Amino acid sequence: MPNIPANDPALTTWAEVPTNSDFPIQNIPFGVVCPKGGPARPATRIGDQVVDLKVLWEKGLLKDTGLPDPVFHAQDLNPLLMEGKAGTRRLRQRLSDLLSRDNAELRDDPATRKLALVPLTDVEVLLPVSIGDYTDFYSSKEHATNVGTMFRDPKNALLPNWSHLPVGYHGRSSSIIPSGEPIRRPMGQTRPDDSQPPVFGPSGQLDFELEVGFITYQGKALGERISTEEADDHIFGMVLFNDWSARDLQKWEYVPLGPFLAKNFGSSMSCWIVTLDALEPFRTPGPVQEPAVLPYLRYKGDKNLDIALEVAIAPENAGETIVCRSNHKYLYWNMEQQLAHHTVNGCNIRAGDLLASGTISGPTTDSYGSMLEIAWKGTKPVRLVDGSERKFILDGDTVIMRGHAEHAGVRVGFGEVRTTVLPAR
Ligand code: MN
Repeated sequence: MPNIPANDPALTTWAEVPTNSDFPIQNIPFGVVCPKGGPARPATRIGDQVVDLKVLWEKGLLKDTGLPDPVFHAQDLNPLLMEGKAGTRRLRQRLSDLLSRDNAELRDDPATRKLALVPLTDVEVLLPVSIGDYTDFYSSKEHATNVGTMFRDPKNALLPNWSHLPVGYHGRSSSIIPSGEPIRRPMGQTRPDDSQPPVFGPSGQLDFELEVGFITYQGKALGERISTEEADDHIFGMVLFNDWSARDLQKWEYVPLGPFLAKNFGSSMSCWIVTLDALEPFRTPGPVQEPAVLPYLRYKGDKNLDIALEVAIAPENAGETIVCRSNHKYLYWNMEQQLAHHTVNGCNIRAGDLLASGTISGPTTDSYGSMLEIAWKGTKPVRLVDGSERKFILDGDTVIMRGHAEHAGVRVGFGEVRTTVLPAR
């Protein structure tokens, strides 16, 4: 594990951090916020306050980072990502120092503190990155096995390629929305009766997919590849990701080129990018890969992360029901293998790309990461706390995903990604 002083469990801050917050001083995530009346700017978060990096820069408190001025006047994190891991690591370390209990620079400067630290409720939290390309993988063996069992053959649930490469497809970045923004039920073509022609209408099988995604730094030139060993140098940080899916559209359209309109109407992501640096203390071994992978997919060390994940459904005017508890550690193909595979043909990754894991299902029925699996194709409806039942997601429902890691008394988390479903139009 790299030596990262900002991860020290002994660190404490002078800023207020509620008990069990996902955002203690050991997190220092990055995001973009828009204060009332001001342009969007980069920020970090401590507890339930945002720290305005534009203000800190203008007050000269971030000069030592050596980062260029445009980083702090940008309305997304892309210029910061161009500075690579060395740059973001220096910035995170400096912010950790400024927020440390023993550091007086900001602590004892009430005027600057008042300008720089703003309650979360006073700002709009925006999509942090201008996402270039978005790729979605299919890296959970449990999920792929469940889907293969339901739709093909329980005895041959996994297709022959699945155990040899991280299967993926190119998604659409234009429809990725931040947590809090509602999504509209998609219209589309389905074929409910196999003996009849297809019909057009609102999707009747709207589903979530519990995923995590990672945001990249600049990769290499077109034609070059990134090895599993080099991969971490190109991974900035991670987000929670709800890859909305219309199962009835998907079933009819996906042959032979894979997901299209069943997926590209929207995906929701959490707004605070938790750096891979902050997540290093939570590394854990992944599943044993059998058959052995080709040499370019081999890796050294622990590459999975012990991140507890959960999904809740809250119907309109009703409380939440948790319908899934899963964990990043279940993923068969890790991020480093995904990146190595993505670039093995010379495909170039750019700063601000998003690579998502695919639905992360665990081994037990209460850890399945989609309604398709939880309600098993609609055959086992889920009862919610208000007494209603769900096979898929209904209009007015809010789907909330949360995730956090905890080790040695330190909790580092993502907050949530929350999306309400609006009726089709
Ligand atoms: Mn997906």
